[in-house]
Parts: sequence; structure tokens; C-alpha cells
Amino acid sequence: ARHRILVVGGGFGGATAARYLLKRDPSLEVTLVEPSQSYVTCPFSNLYLGGLRDWDSLAHGFDDLRALGVRVVHDRVEAIDAEKRQAALSDGTRINWDRLILSPGIDIRWGTLEGYDEAAAELTPHAWKAGPQTQLLQRQLAEMPDGGTFVMVIPEGAYRCPPGPYERAAMVAHYFKTHKPASKILLLDGKDQFSKQGLFQQGWKALYGEMIEWVGLSGDGQVVRVDARAKEVETAFGTVHRADVLNVIPPQQAGLIAAQAGVTDASGWAPVKGGSFASALVEGVHVLGDATIASPMPKSGFAANTQAKVAVAVILAELAGAPIPEASYANTCYSLIGPGYGISVAGVYRAEGDAIVEVPDSGGVSPLDAPASFREAEARYGEGWYASICRDIWG
Ligand code: FAD
Repeated sequence: ARHRILVVGGGFGGATAARYLLKRDPSLEVTLVEPSQSYVTCPFSNLYLGGLRDWDSLAHGFDDLRALGVRVVHDRVEAIDAEKRQAALSDGTRINWDRLILSPGIDIRWGTLEGYDEAAAELTPHAWKAGPQTQLLQRQLAEMPDGGTFVMVIPEGAYRCPPGPYERAAMVAHYFKTHKPASKILLLDGKDQFSKQGLFQQGWKALYGEMIEWVGLSGDGQVVRVDARAKEVETAFGTVHRADVLNVIPPQQAGLIAAQAGVTDASGWAPVKGGSFASALVEGVHVLGDATIASPMPKSGFAANTQAKVAVAVILAELAGAPIPEASYANTCYSLIGPGYGISVAGVYRAEGDAIVEVPDSGGVSPLDAPASFREAEARYGEGWYASICRDIWG
């Protein structure tokens, strides 16, 4: 009989898995369940906010995966029964599997940050899932008068895309510099250090002067309460900041179906075996991408893509009774600070037992004080990365 593989989520991890399963073994029966007809990427959504990218260029359909033979179902998985190896969709359909791959991304921990619930997100968007939230934030920026203040709340702890908030600050600064040069940007951060910090701060200063102000944890940057109606936030020390546009990036957890399937632990994320991304908690289930605890790998689209390829190789070997291949993972996160000004961080990882470790001396960040030609090249590499990974995943 043909092996039946169910993939939940058509984003970076899930769509990669579906494609590589069928590419490597066309005899498989692969079903991909994803509610959206077209997936909008978070990568490059900051460039959309900066006015450097149009919306349609971020959307990717599933026709190419269908042409390859993937059965794509546009619905939501409501329940997973790991013992029966069965999933229930919103429309009541049940799907049985021999292997299950979950790549549901993140969900917001509503209400963990006081005052920030689903209704608040309609007034002060998070825009941390690309879609209507991103477009709402863009409209608010477009409607803001020159001289206004854009405030961003940045979480501590594990969240999707560590450099994402700081790239967003740069892209909003680019938009302001072009259209509303008297405006200000205030970043209120729940931590004292962030990804590519020196590079971001150097780039912000070079391109936008004093427009971006970053306040870390020890400088009273931790926000403890949001008033979405008043567009005000209160810090741990009681300081109140008023915004004209308020972007709250709230605490996060694995996409809710992961908890329903029993693959998450008390942290809200899914522990996995480092050599395969098999769930450490539930037999026969793999979990990929942002939903997992994969540290030191970041929660990035690139990481999800390489994790999917490893998981597929392991699943195929297991089904064939062949030796399990050795895992190797890679990641590069490009960030654009302004047109023709890019920076990056890269890493290579492998499994050590059930843990994941960074291969010594394998990666690193772009150099500080690099010449303009270097930044310009990295901006181009970033564009090339986006084009090629999207082609690799959605075709
Ligand atoms: P996702 O891509 O979010 O896919 C999850 C999918 O699962 C979704 O389509 C969702 O609809 C679906 N789903 C969820 N629940 C269900 C269910 N119950 N049933 C069916 N389907 C379900 N990464 C990079 O590598 N480079 C970047 O430059 C970069 N920039 C970023 C910028 C921003 C502003 C943000 C927010 C993120 C950025 N990222 C970047 C991170 C990247 O978006 C994520 O790491 C990546 O999307 C993770 O892939 P995933 O498969 O885990 O989840």
C-alpha cells in the first residue's frame, strides 16, 4: 500500500516537506492541509511596510505543489488523534495517516501582556503573521501625520524571527524618511541585547540619524500593559508612552494545533529530537519550524526549510528500512536596513544526540564598518535568497 503522509501547514516548513516527500518518492500519498489559498510570507513583509515591495509579490499559491501530485486541501485541522492516526478538519472530513508532519507556525499568547487581546490587535496590530494584520499596520503608517511617533513593543524570550523587529524599525524609518521626515520611532524592548545589534545600530545611524530610539530592559524598555484605545503603553517602571501608531509584538507559542496534538511541553513549544525533528513526546509525528524548540537554531523560514528536508530524509529512510542519514542544518537571516544596505547572520548546525549544536566557526555576522559595496552586495543576496527559497518551496 502507498504510505499516507499528512502535512499540516503550507508555510515554510510544511510546504517544503510536502514538495520534498513527493520529489524524492512519487509513490507517496501526500496531503497538505492549509487554510489559505495563497500563503503570504513574513519574510519581506517589512519591505512592504517600507514601500519597497508590493503585496502581491509576497503571496505564493499551491498550484505547483498540486502539479507535483500533492493533494492540497484548503481547510483547518481542528483535532489530531495521534493514537488513531487521524486528523479532523473543520468541515468534518477525517484524514488517516501513516506519518504526520506538523508545521503550524506560531500563535499569539493572548492576554499574557495585559490589555493585549484579539480586539486590541484590531486597533494596534502585531503584524507578526503576514496578512490582514500587515496591511492594517501599513494603512496606519500611511494615515499617520508627519511628526508622529511610531512605537514598537518587542518581547523577551522565544519569538519568531529574532532580527525581525529591528528590520521592521529600519523599513518604517525608510518610509518616514521618504514621506514623513519629522516622525520618530521608539522601540521598547523586553531584553538588553538583540540579534545583529551592532550592525543594526550602525546602519540605523548611518541612514536615519537619530530617528530610531531603542530602549532595552535595563533602560525601562519592558512594556507590561497596553491600552489599545488610547494607543498607550506602560513600562515596568510605570512610564507611559503615547503612540500615533502602535505595533505590539506580543509573546508567542507554537501554533495551537501542536498543543492539541500533545507535542508541546509547559513552555508552549514542541521539543523534538535534534537528528530528525521527530516529536520527543508523540510517536510517529514530526514537528518543524517555529513551533519547535530547536535552539540554537532561530525561528526562521530558512531554518524551517532545512529542518523539513532533514525530516523528509529521515522519514523516507525509516519507511524504506534504510540507514538513517546524518542531520545537517543551515540558516541565513538577511535583514534590509535601507535600499542597497543589507546585513546577515548565518549558521550551520548538526545533531549531537537529541540536541542541536552549532558547528564551531561555521557562521557569523556581517562585519561592522564594511564598505558600502559590501552592504549593497548583501542587499542583493537577500533578494536572491527570497526568490530562490520561495521557488524551492512553492515553485
Ligand atoms: P509558517 O510559515 O507560519 O506556516 C504555518 C502555516 O500553518 C500557516 O500557513 C498556517 O495557516 C498553517 N496552520 C496553522 N494551524 C493550522 C491548522 N490547524 N490547520 C491547517 N493549517 C494550519 N525568516 C527568514 O528565514 N528570513 C526572513 O527574512 C524572515 N523575515 C521575517 C520577518 C517578519 C516580520 C516575521 C514576522 C518573520 C520573519 N521570518 C523570516 C520568520 C518566518 O516567517 C518564520 O520562521 C517561518 O514562517 C516559519 O515557518 P513555519 O512553517 O514554522 O510556519
